[in-house]
Amino acid sequence: MHANAPFALTLLALAGVGRLATAAGPPPTTTTTRPIVITVDDLPIAGPHDDLAERKEITERLLAALKKHHVPAVGFVTWKNLRSEKETELLAAWLAAGHELGNHTVRHLSLTTTPVEEWIADAEDARARLAAFVAPRGRKARFFRFPFLNEGDTLEKLDAVRAYLDKSGQRNLPVTLDDQDWSFEADWVKARKAGDAAEMSRIGEEYRSALRLAIRDQEARGDALFKRPLPQVLLLHANEVGAAQWDALFTWLETTGHRFATADEVLADPAFAEPHQIVARYGYGLWDRLDLKRRISKARDEVTALLTTQAGAWNRGDMAAFCSVYVDDALFLTPSGVTRGRQTILERYLKRYPDAAARGTLSVEILSVTPVHGVEITAFGDARPGRVQGVSVAARWTIAYTEKPPATGLTLLNLRPEAGSWQIVEDASM
Ligand SMILES: [Zn+2]
Repeated sequence: MHANAPFALTLLALAGVGRLATAAGPPPTTTTTRPIVITVDDLPIAGPHDDLAERKEITERLLAALKKHHVPAVGFVTWKNLRSEKETELLAAWLAAGHELGNHTVRHLSLTTTPVEEWIADAEDARARLAAFVAPRGRKARFFRFPFLNEGDTLEKLDAVRAYLDKSGQRNLPVTLDDQDWSFEADWVKARKAGDAAEMSRIGEEYRSALRLAIRDQEARGDALFKRPLPQVLLLHANEVGAAQWDALFTWLETTGHRFATADEVLADPAFAEPHQIVARYGYGLWDRLDLKRRISKARDEVTALLTTQAGAWNRGDMAAFCSVYVDDALFLTPSGVTRGRQTILERYLKRYPDAAARGTLSVEILSVTPVHGVEITAFGDARPGRVQGVSVAARWTIAYTEKPPATGLTLLNLRPEAGSWQIVEDASM
C-alpha cells in the first residue's frame, strides 16, 4: 500500500470529497490526448485474500480489464505478498499478457523509518529475485517503485538510494496521480462476503468518484506547474475492488482525453527529467515534489532580494525603511541585550548610527537560506507538502568605513510571509 497510513481515508471521510468537486473545476477537455501509464502496486495481490483460487481469479479479472482497454501496464512486485512459490504463476500471467514487472522490494519497508543500508539490502534482494524470474522470459527488471512513495527523509538517504538505483540499472517510476484506491478494499471484501449488493454498489461508486477527483485535481496542479498538459503515471493496486471497478475507470479515462501509454513514452517527457532534492517524511507524488521545489526556490529568491533592498535602505540613510521589514513585535538580540518591537529597534539603530560616517556601507553575504514547510492532508487523506511557512537565514554582515577598518559579524534571521512579502520576526546579530 502506498498511502501514508496515519492519514488513511475511511469511507465515511469520503463525504468530504464532494467539496472538491467544484474546486476541481470542469472536467478535462476531450480535445487533447494525454498519455497515461497505468501502474499497479503490491503484486501479486494486495488485500485480504488467502485462497489461491480467489487470488488467481482476481488476477484474471484485473488482466481482463487491462486487455479490454489495451492498457500496457507496469506491475510492481512485492515479494512478501507471494503466499508461496506457486504464486509466481500469478506474476507469469502478467508477463504473458504483455505487461512489464518492476521492483517494489521484498518487505515493503518505509525508507523514512528504516536504516538506509537495511532498506537498500531489501530492495536489492527483490531486484535479484525479479531479475532471475523475468530473465528466462526474455525481460529485464528496469523500473522501481518506492514503498509508500517515501524517497528519503534526509539528503543522505536520498543520495544513497539514488546511487543504488543508478548502479543497479533501475529507474524510479514516480507516481503523478496518487490516490487511495487501496483504502476501499477491506470494506469491499466485507460487503461481498456478506452478499450486500447495495453496499458493494455504494463502495464502487465512491471508489470511482474518489479516483476521478484525485486524477482531475493532480492533473490540474501538474499542468499548472508546466503550463501544458502533462503525461501522467496513475497508481493503482492489485486488489478485488479494482478488479470490479477498473473497466469503468478506464472507460472514464478514455472519455476524458487520456490515451493509455507505455512507461517509456511517459518518462520521455522532459517533466520527468527535472532534477530535485526534495526530502520528506511522507510519500509525495512527483508534481508535489516539483511544486515544493519551486516554492522553496521562490522563497529563497524573495528573501535574498529583501536583504539586498534592506542594505540599500541602510546605505542611503533611510533607517525607517531599513526597519520596515521587522514585524511590529520583532525580537532583536545582540551581545549588548534584547530589543523588542520595530519602533524600539529603529530607535536603537538611529542612536547607534546617527549619521553617514557611523553607518558606513552595509553589505550582507548570505550563508544559508532554509525554508520551513510542513505537511497538509488532502480531502483524500494524502499527505501533501504545505506552503512555505517561514525562512531562516544565516548571513555575514559587514560595514565598511573609509576612515577605519570594517566591522563585521554574523546574523540569524527568522522571517515569515506577511501580506505578500517577507518580514523579520527574530534577528540574532553578533
Ligand atoms: Zn506498495
